[in-house]
Amino acid sequence: MLSTMQDVPLTVTRILTHGTLVHGRSQIITWTGESEPQRRSFAEAGARAVRLANALRDELGVRGDDRVATLMWNNAEHVEAYFAIPAMGAVLHTLNLRLPAEQLVWIVNHAADRVIIVNGSLIPLLAPLLAKLPTVEHIVVSGPGDRSPLQGAHARIHEYEELIADRPTTYDWPELDERQAAAMCYTSGTTGDPKGVVYSHRSIYLHSMQVNMTQSMGLTDQDTSLVVVPQFHVNAWGLPHATFMSGVNMLMPDRFLQPAPLAEMIEREKPTHAAAVPTIWQGLLAELTARPRDVSSLTQVTIGGAACPPSLMTAFDRLGMRVCHAWGMTETSPLGTVARPPAHAAGTEEEFAYRLTQGRFPAGVEARLTGPGGERLPWDGESAGELEVRGPWIAGAYYNGPDGEPLRPADKFSEDGWLKTGDVGTISPDGFLTLTDRAKDVIKSGGEWISSVELENALMSHPDVTEAAVVAVPDDKWGERPLATVVLRDGATADFETLRSFLAEEGRIAKWQLPERWTIVPAVPKTSVGKFDKKVLRRQYADGQLD
Ligand code: ADP
Repeated sequence: MLSTMQDVPLTVTRILTHGTLVHGRSQIITWTGESEPQRRSFAEAGARAVRLANALRDELGVRGDDRVATLMWNNAEHVEAYFAIPAMGAVLHTLNLRLPAEQLVWIVNHAADRVIIVNGSLIPLLAPLLAKLPTVEHIVVSGPGDRSPLQGAHARIHEYEELIADRPTTYDWPELDERQAAAMCYTSGTTGDPKGVVYSHRSIYLHSMQVNMTQSMGLTDQDTSLVVVPQFHVNAWGLPHATFMSGVNMLMPDRFLQPAPLAEMIEREKPTHAAAVPTIWQGLLAELTARPRDVSSLTQVTIGGAACPPSLMTAFDRLGMRVCHAWGMTETSPLGTVARPPAHAAGTEEEFAYRLTQGRFPAGVEARLTGPGGERLPWDGESAGELEVRGPWIAGAYYNGPDGEPLRPADKFSEDGWLKTGDVGTISPDGFLTLTDRAKDVIKSGGEWISSVELENALMSHPDVTEAAVVAVPDDKWGERPLATVVLRDGATADFETLRSFLAEEGRIAKWQLPERWTIVPAVPKTSVGKFDKKVLRRQYADGQLD
């Protein structure tokens, strides 16, 4: 028997309409580097999204599921594109502006983008690539920056503000199939070619509702969220969509992502929430330690994308900024787990331990652990295996393989359709995930596994250490051994012997796991989304020798 309920498609269009109408007074505040930020209400941004959709259709000829890419910072115009493009039925393709040029070219060609909306400040990045982008017919430029490098391009060049001015103020949005593509995002291609994840209207809608749940970020229209996580990094973790659903104000840093302007933004605009990867917060912490500011408004900080070091959590707690740890991937939209401790742990010693886990699976994300021989492992908090997940906002394939069909590599999808995350960890009986490592980062020493994350966290809890990344290097006797690269605080004096003894103290790290190879570096190399780039480190120390 079928239900008697209405069958209303879950679409990004409905999120746009709702945010514009019901939360019209909420604001997108974009940092400009000038004395005043740009302030735009959801009502204004929604109206401008309507005009943008009209311009894309009538002037640029965007039709059907054409891909419209963005090469943009986090700002109000990027939010407008986030809604206009999917609502008209086209596909938003966010481009990661930190990728190497050849990967960007590969991705634009693979997605066959017809239009690129670019921030003026990013023209120097785009212009030299254009000759290699034959599918791109139109470039729309938004915000300050020299336009001259675009002269002579094969694509037509438009000014965003001129393009949307004088366009109709209504758009007869098509009623879309909720399973249709709304947005796409490529993984950064740590192995092989980048892979495109295509989000549906339905997956975005359901994911946004989950982000808004109290057990997740739980924000309301009384909140302002500082969205540091880039809009090209898994849709800024779903925040632009989730905020339009619940009226949360967005504070957008544009290109001002350095610790000093971030600290200034927090002091002046008083966000209550912020979201970014750990390296951003390490930088902010150093800034606040050197030059204290009033950051008392910021009471909730979502940290994900890489393991949150315990020392960072403690330091933020001391500043009154409560860290909430979360795990996810491009393939999971990204929300996969959120570490809100269960009620029985409140106020007990267990609470901190729960907060350090990657978090609990929400309704909508099913999980299982698979052992090395393919066996299912129990949720006992001890058995470690590869995490596999499935759910309505989890990818079931990648965009177009060489034959034009969806791509389902056997190392990424199980035969019965679950996503193999490549992350190794345990799950407690009450559904909390603890990751010990990425499968490819685990150090296999003499038949035993050493967790690189555990060593890094222990190192970063030493007061002289600001960053530490540990990778496996080949070793004649043990197969692999850990190599520690360490960044010291300005003026710090700790040497390897001190750090080694520190790791060994109080049973922090078992003796056989202590690294023999150490190096001090000015900075750990970072990936395009700001995580430690262990691929670069592994290459650098591929022969197991230090320079
Ligand atoms: P990339 O592969 O380019 O880093 P993603 O942003 O999709 O792209 O990264 C997803 C991966 O990041 C996860 O598979 C996991 O290894 C890691 N990750 C994400 N959040 C956490 C976390 N809270 N703790 C540990 N690792 C995390």
